[in-house]
Parts: sequence; structure tokens; C-alpha cells
Amino acid sequence: MNIHEYQAKQVLKGFGVPVAEGVAITSADEAEAAARQLPGPLWVVKSQIHAGGRGKGRFKELGPDAKGGVRLAFSIEDVVKHAREMLGATLVTAQTGEAGKQVNRLYIEDGADIARELYLSILVDRTHGKVAFVVSTEGGMDIEQVAHDTPERIRTVVIDPVAGVTDADVATLSDALKLEGAAREDAKTLFPALHKAFVEKDMSMLEVNPLIVMENGRMRVLDAKVSFDGNALFRHKDIQALRDVTEEDPKEIEASKHDLAYIALDGTIGCMVNGAGLAMATLDIIKLYGAEPANFLDVGGGASKEKVTAAFRIITSDPNVEGILVNIFGGIMRCDIIAEGVVAAVREVGLKVPLVVRLEGTNVELGKQILRDSGLNVIPADDLADAAEKIVKAVKAA
Ligand code: ADP
Ligand code: MG
Repeated sequence: MNIHEYQAKQVLKGFGVPVAEGVAITSADEAEAAARQLPGPLWVVKSQIHAGGRGKGRFKELGPDAKGGVRLAFSIEDVVKHAREMLGATLVTAQTGEAGKQVNRLYIEDGADIARELYLSILVDRTHGKVAFVVSTEGGMDIEQVAHDTPERIRTVVIDPVAGVTDADVATLSDALKLEGAAREDAKTLFPALHKAFVEKDMSMLEVNPLIVMENGRMRVLDAKVSFDGNALFRHKDIQALRDVTEEDPKEIEASKHDLAYIALDGTIGCMVNGAGLAMATLDIIKLYGAEPANFLDVGGGASKEKVTAAFRIITSDPNVEGILVNIFGGIMRCDIIAEGVVAAVREVGLKVPLVVRLEGTNVELGKQILRDSGLNVIPADDLADAAEKIVKAVKAA
């Protein structure tokens, strides 16, 4: 689960992390009141959407000369002017895709005197099986570009889970970021505090870009992007309360209501599979045959007919889907249940694209019979490769 920047800063503040003062608002009137609460003479008006790259982003409705999704304002009037322009407009960034995201909330923040912009993130380093800090002196810009062009400027420091962030770790990170004086002192509490927040709140990623050194030598978290481990959310009621469903894919929200593991992807082949491993293998083999999957979907081991119908409805509601591949291995799950679910779903929502079904396992003959008797235009397949090849062919022919 992702949260907004202003929420992330609130969470971090609770761990003693230095952030700027700010107020989240949803109307131009509120923007004025918010700006009056802050000291000035510099304010920053920041779009709150679940995507990065806002500063370099562009608003669809505004001309090419309009400023981006993070704007500096030098007066309260300017804050209000920017707020009027930005609220309700659609921000397109490198992370939103062409459709962009509507800006419904702004964060009015106290402007900082920036001396240096650094990069810091904390993540689970799967190679080491530990939490790691990733830092770079090249903050504030596209870190992917830095990683690609000058990987030597990115430093990873793996944290021992028992010892936590040691003095030696802080020194290594501070050296890598070339911190001196007051900033180096700040780092001694800042880095352990960020790590504590990450671990205690079960974050899966915490990205601070930029982490800044101000003109007065002190450090501050200027941007914060946080994702939480969905499997640990049950023990964080405070974090659950920060969920903003308007930022999430409606298909994923619908899927979670039915307890389906569904992730929307960019391709054209909708997939319904049981078992996460088989689902992953299905995505791979679709790619192998030259197409791209539209989603990951694991209907689970004991799916009911209703669950299958819901899954089918979600897949077909995706306008990018040009073909559907159902790949079920009936172990606990029975093939006849899947077949009934597919038939019921097609009767309910209709079928405008080719459908390939590969069934194997418990009650497979009964399942195939149900599909044949249904009179639906289902293309049967015998194994995984056969199924992938057939659906890719059918989509290309259509
Ligand atoms: P994004 O990463 O989505 O573009 P950021 O929060 O990183 O958004 O803001 C982009 C840039 O705007 C920062 O790199 C920084 O230069 C500037 N900026 C952001 N917040 C402030 C602030 N409070 N004071 C001064 N400059 C800021
Ligand atoms: Mg940023």
C-alpha cells in the first residue's frame, strides 16, 4: 500500500525525523489559510498523488509553458494562484503513464534554503536478505539515470538485523554522502530514526529524494515516498487509516473485496490462474510467445464459482484486454467449479475477445464437458505452452 507525501512525512515526524512544516489542503481558500500559517518568504505548492516525478511533470489541461506539479511561491497570492491552477488538473509524470492523475489535494509547505540535494532510500535487499540503505550524492534528479550512467555514485549499505544501524554504518553513509559539520551530526540521529520507522511500520520501501543539506548546514527530508508491506498491514491500524482508495486501481480494489490476488499490468492478455507460482509461469510463457500479460491473478486454491465469476468480471472490465487465458491446475480446486464459473461469468458479462482455457487435474473431464456443453466459443488447450501459443495467435488474428 502506498501513501501520500504529506502522510509519509507525518509518519516520519513521529520518529523524530526533521521535515518541513506544511498543511494539506483541497481548495484554494484552504490554500490561503495554510500559507498564512507558515512563516514564508518561500512556500512550496506540492501535488499529492501516488506517483513520483511531480516536479518535472506536466498538467494536461494547462499549456506547455505551465509549471510542473511542485511549484515555488514567493507570496501568499502566488500560493493561491498556483492552487487554483493545479487543483482538479491532471498531472502527467514519468510514473503516471499518459493518462496522468487528477490532483485533488495539495501540500503547502515551508520552503527550504537548499545547499545540496541528496538521495536516500531504505529497502529490503533481496540479494542479502536484509534491509539496506541506498544513498547517492546525486539527489533531486532521476536516480534511475544516475544508476544507469554513473552507478559508482550509488552506494548500498546493508544493515545487520540484530545490531541495527551501527555507528560504523552511520559513518559509512555520511562519508558516501560527503556530510560534514552539523549535517554529519544530524545524520547520527536521522539515519537510525529512518531505519526504525521502516522496520516498526513494516515498510517495503522508503525513498527520500531529495534528502537535503540546508544553507544553515542542517539536514531535512524534503520528499518522502513510502510503500508498506500489504501482508503486515493488519497490525498497523494507523497506517490502514491513511489508505486513499481514489489513488488505487479500481480493479485491484474490487479484487481485494473478493480476496483475489490481482495486480494490473500493461499488456493485452488477461490471465486467470490458480496458484501464485503457476500465475508467474503463465506470465512468463505469454511473454515467451510474444505478447504481454494484462494482469497477474491468482484465484487461490479453494475458489468458489462466485469468486471465479468476480475474477472474470474484473479481467473483462480492463479495456486493454484483447484475449483471455484461463490456466487452472485442479488440485484442491476442482476443474468443474472453474468451468462453471467461467460459463456463468461469460453469460453475465459477455465475451468479446478470444478465450483459451487450459484445465488439468481433479475432475478435468467433467470441466471440459461443461465448457463443451455450454456452446460458448472457448478454445481448449492441452498444456501451458499450447495455451499460451493459442491465445497469442488468436489475439493476433483478431
Ligand atoms: P518529485 O520528486 O515528485 O518531483 P519533490 O518533493 O522531490 O517532488 O520536489 C521536487 C523538487 O522541488 C525538489 O527536488 C526540490 O528541489 C524542490 N522542493 C520540494 N519541496 C521543497 C521545499 N519544501 N522547499 C524548497 N524546495 C523544495
Ligand atoms: Mg522527489
